[in-house]
Amino acid sequence: MSSVADADRVADLARQVVADHDPKKVPTPEYLAACFDAGLSWVHFPEGLGGLGVSRGLQAEADRILQGAGGPIPLSLNPMGYGMAAPTIREHAQSDELKRSWLRPLASTEHIWCQLFSEPGAGSDLAGLATSAVRDGDEWVINGQKVWTSLAHRARWGLLLARSNPDVPKHKGLTYFVLDMHAPGVETRPLRQMTGQAEFNEVYITDARIPDAHRLGEVGNGWNVAMTTLMNERSALGGSGSRRGAGTISDAVALWASRPDLQTPVLRDRLAQLWLRSEAQRLTAERSRAAATVGGPGPEGSIGKLVGAELNQHIYQWCMDLLGPEGTLYHGYGMDVGEEDGADWRGPVQQRFLRSKANTIEGGTSEVMRNILGERILGLPGDLRADAGMPWKEIPRG
Ligand SMILES: Cc1cc2nc3c(=O)[nH]c(=O)nc-3n(C[C@H](O)[C@H](O)[C@H](O)COP(=O)(O)OP(=O)(O)OC[C@H]3O[C@@H](n4cnc5c(N)ncnc54)[C@H](O)[C@@H]3O)c2cc1C
Repeated sequence: MSSVADADRVADLARQVVADHDPKKVPTPEYLAACFDAGLSWVHFPEGLGGLGVSRGLQAEADRILQGAGGPIPLSLNPMGYGMAAPTIREHAQSDELKRSWLRPLASTEHIWCQLFSEPGAGSDLAGLATSAVRDGDEWVINGQKVWTSLAHRARWGLLLARSNPDVPKHKGLTYFVLDMHAPGVETRPLRQMTGQAEFNEVYITDARIPDAHRLGEVGNGWNVAMTTLMNERSALGGSGSRRGAGTISDAVALWASRPDLQTPVLRDRLAQLWLRSEAQRLTAERSRAAATVGGPGPEGSIGKLVGAELNQHIYQWCMDLLGPEGTLYHGYGMDVGEEDGADWRGPVQQRFLRSKANTIEGGTSEVMRNILGERILGLPGDLRADAGMPWKEIPRG
């Protein structure tokens, strides 16, 4: 089928979904389940799994119609689900039946997902993680502690990276699982951030059991499966809105328009520069999306992640500069974030400024992004890796 025919089919299906399930009237899970059934959740996924088997680039066409009719941005409702779990499940789950059983409630947002990667001693050095997975018949027994786990308190399922073999070099002894966050032995404790909200958590895992059927990829191949998750995470974090002037910059433009009393020529000039940088980032993201019409994102996702994170911080810094002393007035110091379906997580602009500080840490720090870009795109000499080739259990740990 030609791509023009594919585009027409995607557009027709999107119009049909909003005609039959008006997103302004029906409950969000029902509307998003209808999008899944029509193959519009991820148009490049196979039919029956929330897709139509067409070019990834056509997702923008579906989203334009769906969101234009008042539909929510699904990524903002189930970020780890849409951005990371879905592509990982699609590529590595053991059967189509399992894939569908996870993907439909993920897409409808009935099941929120979280990412159980980071540990107190393993963030940038993720492959050094210590949570253990020991095989016991048809099950695995998991013990360890994860940290900074966004949305674990609301999650039904977690993407878990654990060490199944301590005797081999660190990247080789990892296996990847889907953990039932309601299973016995899984305890979630909230961590309060400087915004006042508890968006992420510590997760303690004690003798929790996972059926082998819930393993993603081969035993010992967890690092490669994790790459599917991380590349998609960076791409999702770095993707700006596909509409001109959308995304974070729209907050700055709206603030400028609402406060003529605070406008100065210098702030106007800085806003114009930020708008230009946002537009350059949007076009770069579009170009990378167009290039990756099939398969997953490559290291190019790290460009969007790096640039987007720093740009977000500069935009909210500008907002604080415009507000002057008002920037210190922040009333949103509650822990209610993300508790309600469809709630706006972002709060007032002062909160967004504080939250933007995390952008250069979450999903891989800016230093790590620069290392990836230096090594994989520019071909520069690699980072120092003193533990390369050593069995994980012999690597000194603090
Ligand atoms: C808001 C937020 C949400 C998060 N959500 C999740 C989540 O849902 N799931 C999850 O698993 N994790 C999550 N994280 C964790 C995040 O992935 C880690 O914080 C991040 O990878 C950095 O790890 P670290 O905090 O251990 O810092 P470290 O790795 O200890 O880094 C400390 C400093 O050293 C620098 N550094 C480290 N190694 C190098 C190097 N090789 N070269 C140059 N500089 C280096 C870093 O850039 C940083 O400045 C979240 C973090 C934040 C802030």
